[in-house]
Amino acid sequence: MTYQNYSLKQLQQVDAAHHLHPFTDHKELREAGSRIITRAEGPYIFDSEGNEILDAMAGLWCVNVGYGREELARAAYHQMKELPYYNSFFKCSTPTPVLLAKRLAELAPPSVNQVFFGSSGSEANDTALRLVRHFWALEGKPQKNRIISRKNAYHGSTVAGTSLGGMEPMHQQLGGAVPNIVHVMMPYAYELALPGESDHEFGLRAAKAVEDAILEAGPENVAAFIGEPIMGAGGVKIPPMSYWPEIERICRKYDVLLMLDEVITGYGRTGEWFAAQSFGITPDTITTAKALTSGYQPLSALLVGDRIATTLTEKGGEFYHGYTYSGHPVACAVALANLDIIEKEGLVERVKNDTGPYFAQALRERIADHPLVGEVRSFGLMGAIEIVRDKATKERFEGDGRAAVVVRDHAIANGLMLRATGDTMILSPPLIWTRETIDLACERIGKALDLAHKDLFA
Ligand code: PMP
Repeated sequence: MTYQNYSLKQLQQVDAAHHLHPFTDHKELREAGSRIITRAEGPYIFDSEGNEILDAMAGLWCVNVGYGREELARAAYHQMKELPYYNSFFKCSTPTPVLLAKRLAELAPPSVNQVFFGSSGSEANDTALRLVRHFWALEGKPQKNRIISRKNAYHGSTVAGTSLGGMEPMHQQLGGAVPNIVHVMMPYAYELALPGESDHEFGLRAAKAVEDAILEAGPENVAAFIGEPIMGAGGVKIPPMSYWPEIERICRKYDVLLMLDEVITGYGRTGEWFAAQSFGITPDTITTAKALTSGYQPLSALLVGDRIATTLTEKGGEFYHGYTYSGHPVACAVALANLDIIEKEGLVERVKNDTGPYFAQALRERIADHPLVGEVRSFGLMGAIEIVRDKATKERFEGDGRAAVVVRDHAIANGLMLRATGDTMILSPPLIWTRETIDLACERIGKALDLAHKDLFA
């Protein structure tokens, strides 16, 4: 029996009876019933009621080439027929991860040439954490194992991902994080800049928090700093341009490794292949996933810089770590086909030179003046809209995030899939969006804001 034989109500009942969802209050879900998405095409998703919804989140920050790509289905089909699976353990390899690793080394910053595969961003960050500690142990400095991260960071939902991340509610449920990870302030000027402090100055001050944490621990005890170039799940927090170069300078000064989590920003979202290139920095590790396959297959790639790779390969000693699906042949075949599409269609350049600037301008000119909007910001095709009660004082609505949920629900009802995180609306559209799609999205955001304004001030 296929799902078409089920009514929406029946599917929702079966969902409630058997399916536990990620990041969900299951009592609430049972009361509301889930929205069931049944198919998708290009930039649109369709629910079981036949509603067409423009997907401003690219699934979950991942479907960068849009839905319904024949090439990707074909790549998976051919690979499954030829070799659906073989492992990369025990000195074995299969062709597609080899070719993909080479391709990624070509796209990454020049001193990043090695790749470790997994199936998710969380797994890749687990690998990154294990790898940097292994690196310092091989260097004869096992005590250099502290990792500095940021409050409100999101690095995944495994134990290591949660520990690296800085989300309080996740830590509370964890009941004991991986030891020796500390969290410093985030570079979020809208809420944290001091009166009269310029963006540039604020960026330097936020970076200084990392230096302070290094000095407090003693540089001889600090392995690495990890950060999302632009914080995603935490609310698309875009650091001032002064932040990352200063972080890099500080890391180099104290011989602390620089780890970037580009699970969202990788593969074109910022208008370069990697945000490292947008911010002009050279990290020691780059965590990537999501858009590597545009979400058509689960795959992550931890890109590893030459310094770590050289120690691994020259000093030897087994790295006791890996996954059954590290280098999965089908996922890697799909990734290769996905990179072909991004390249052939010039999507990265399009974000940089056309849709990214147009998106910024559209948010600024058509959304920023709305009375509910405290700030709009964007970088490439990643954007945020701050929802406030009072523009001038930045006062928020009571009920922590309630207002943004009202906006989100109106947006979805009016054909636009947006996400709310705290009091922030976030956007991460597929890179195939055109100026026309951006116009349509802005029209729907405007409508959602007007309707929410009526509700919130009723
Ligand atoms: N890092 C970042 C920056 C992310 O945004 C995410 C997922 N949203 C992850 C890691 C975890 O990836 P996954 O859900 O594939 O484990």
